[in-house]
Amino acid sequence: TGTTPPTPWDTLPVRAELRGKSPYGAPQLDVPVRLNTNENPYPLPEELVERITERVREAARGLNRYPDRDAVELRTRLAAYLTETTGHRVGPTEVWAANGSNEVIQQLLQTFGGPGRTAIGFEPSYSMHALIARGTGTGWISGPRHEDFTIDVPAAERAIAEHRPDVVFVTTPNNPTGNSVPAETVLALYEAAQAAKPSMVVVDEAYVEFSHGGSLLPLLEGRPHLVVSRTMSKAFGAAGLRLGYLAAHPAVVDAVQLVRLPYHLSAVTQATALAALEHTGTLLRYVERLKTERDRLVTELRAIGYEVTESDANFVQFGRFDDARAVWRKILDRGVLVRDNGVPGWLRVTAGTPQENDAFLDAVRELKKEQS
Ligand code: PMP
Repeated sequence: TGTTPPTPWDTLPVRAELRGKSPYGAPQLDVPVRLNTNENPYPLPEELVERITERVREAARGLNRYPDRDAVELRTRLAAYLTETTGHRVGPTEVWAANGSNEVIQQLLQTFGGPGRTAIGFEPSYSMHALIARGTGTGWISGPRHEDFTIDVPAAERAIAEHRPDVVFVTTPNNPTGNSVPAETVLALYEAAQAAKPSMVVVDEAYVEFSHGGSLLPLLEGRPHLVVSRTMSKAFGAAGLRLGYLAAHPAVVDAVQLVRLPYHLSAVTQATALAALEHTGTLLRYVERLKTERDRLVTELRAIGYEVTESDANFVQFGRFDDARAVWRKILDRGVLVRDNGVPGWLRVTAGTPQENDAFLDAVRELKKEQS
């Protein structure tokens, strides 16, 4: 009497730490200008689409067999790409690939985190680090940042010494704020993490191709507990492909194989990724265009009178707002979808095509006029 009957949700024996939680996900709304998920706005060039079709057709003839479990050809090509673009020599035994860098991160936490272990990230940062920690039963520690979103190094060192986490996440360029983490900061955190445990330091470079500076890959030299994770989702314009990878000491690559599912990378995925890696020259030219557009967004947003966080990524964090959610809504009413990442006072816009960015800038210019 008066009590509501239990729903199937209430009686499902879901793990306690998952109860009452919502799945990760940005709204996928059907609006004219979608600048909310840091995708590359340019479809793949037609000659690459052709090459993918050829490679996939070839792979289709062998689909009765399981794919190359170790993805050797793909890892060899990824290693060559890293070597060519960073000047740091990487071999195939130092590279591992999975279905998106989210899966790379999941495999790292399954290997180095897990029940009874912890991971730390410096927030606000990529929220999936904490969610994958939860999914793998790894405890999560929220580390500090300064007001300007740079990492507070002494406070971070103290947090590492105090909590002795098993995994330390550093996202550079950081999402959603856009700023890069200097090499000295990563080195300081690595030293702190080695002194405390030793623990693994995972540098998430999902957006590094868009940065003004370079990759931190050369730091791998002599640091067997450092991992750099990368993705083909952003710079390569291939978010739909689901291909992420890491570079680390070969021992790390051996270790993650203990948790990977056999044949996790389908033959179709491997064939598609290999085709894309034949066209990195063209794909990186789109990156140059996007970097120019990103810099234009920063300049114009500041000219309009917004505060902007320095950006090395394909997106820009802007503010400040008393009610970011209300502003998000007003921008959406003008046909432009940006992202409210829950950072109080700030919103994030992905750099799109020049036309999309103009539509966004027109919308926020109008809003500014309304306010004054
Ligand atoms: N790392 C960061 C910092 C990201 O922003 C994202 C995607 N939003 C990812 C990793 C995961 O990307 P994917 O799984 O598509 O490689």
